[in-house]
Amino acid sequence: MPSYDTIIVGAGPAGCATAYDLAHAGRRVLLLDRRSFPRHKACACGLTRKTLNALRYSVDPVIEYICHEVVLQQGNNDTAIQELRVHTRNPICAMAVRERFDAFCLKQTLAAGSNGGSVTFLKIENIIAIRESDASVELDVETADGPLTFAAPVLIGADGSNGQTRRLIHQQREPGWYERGFALEACVPYSAMPAELPCGNAPTDLVFDFAPLPGGYGWLFPKGDHVNIGVGVFAASEEYADTNLRQVTRQRLADYTMHKLGVELTAITAHITGQYLGMGGDAYTPRGRVLLAGDAAGLVDQLTGEGIYSALISGQAAAAAITSNTTDVARAYAKRLRPLQRTLAFSARAARSFYREPERGFRAMRHPLLRRIILKIYTEGFPANGLLRFFLGHA
Ligand SMILES: Cc1cc2nc3c(=O)[nH]c(=O)nc-3n(C[C@H](O)[C@H](O)[C@H](O)COP(=O)(O)OP(=O)(O)OC[C@H]3O[C@@H](n4cnc5c(N)ncnc54)[C@H](O)[C@@H]3O)c2cc1C
Repeated sequence: MPSYDTIIVGAGPAGCATAYDLAHAGRRVLLLDRRSFPRHKACACGLTRKTLNALRYSVDPVIEYICHEVVLQQGNNDTAIQELRVHTRNPICAMAVRERFDAFCLKQTLAAGSNGGSVTFLKIENIIAIRESDASVELDVETADGPLTFAAPVLIGADGSNGQTRRLIHQQREPGWYERGFALEACVPYSAMPAELPCGNAPTDLVFDFAPLPGGYGWLFPKGDHVNIGVGVFAASEEYADTNLRQVTRQRLADYTMHKLGVELTAITAHITGQYLGMGGDAYTPRGRVLLAGDAAGLVDQLTGEGIYSALISGQAAAAAITSNTTDVARAYAKRLRPLQRTLAFSARAARSFYREPERGFRAMRHPLLRRIILKIYTEGFPANGLLRFFLGHA
């Protein structure tokens, strides 16, 4: 049976981040994905400064647009629309197209390696079974050429919000801590938009709009030749979460696109795609030899819907735990994951409060100091130390 130092299921940001660091630490990694790359993944691919800083390499070749200004909106046709335009000296968000971003990151990952470390990529059809023993993990997969079995001391489940790994290690059931958000997106070329947008925004405005649906927001993310428009619900742990999730429909996105951009989505045959976002991971406790990272571990931020940063940080934490050469890799991973989980728990509480009454949250954002703190945390993350320096620094 072919064996590796680590098997990783899923070659998105979490899987690639894990594989990259392991290969550089001299480990032989098997990286599996159900899809060939480049592949589409529903995502607005806004990369905050903390995400860019967490990446081990520059992703400049796939950055299409850099935003120094964010437009926050609240209110709809029945209530007065309020708008807050915040300009910052440093970039708030860099914009990429997810398909190209992931293909680029996978390419860097497959080229990574030192001291005999390497990453082997294999496309599989499905996972059949995971068997965990005291010393190793065995993985049965279905491939186009038939079933195969691999073994390794550790397996990382980085297979996203719908991933099989989490369900298999929890005996086919979702664990109690796991929650979901849901978001839909479409791309509208600048060339399909009217000269003046009905909402009054410029086509290249980065917009977060808390009006279209409860428990989440609508967005406009400007790219090189199009705008990524979407609606999503992220405050998943509210009692009315299911009702909120059901409001994220294709019709709602079509109505929102007409309202914001004056474009009939069906007329431009836009590809509308959606996906769940894995949440609740602040309560995830790593156990055994199968560890979860990224959306599979429920690590999306419930306030902002941002997940690429957590995917990178958790993947890197898993790699660091593995290379620490401890016998209890789950414990080592849990320790390294904790700072991120604390941040996500804080965000989940903030999300519950904010989305219960977004008008109040919006009013709070009018206060310059509070606005500065919130934006700084969104773009740069929580300060590891030096709170005073953090708040006095320039946004
Ligand atoms: C509409 C939408 C917009 C979003 N916008 C943003 C944004 O602007 N910024 C941001 O930071 N986050 C955003 N997110 C969240 C972000 O997309 C995720 O948090 C991020 O992709 C998580 O990375 P991951 O590596 O954990 O999982 P994924 O990126 O989902 O990667 C999982 C990989 O596993 C593979 N896989 C799945 N099942 C199997 C299997 N059984 N066997 C083998 N492989 C498998 C998949 O093919 C995939 O390649 C958005 C999400 C959605 C749905």
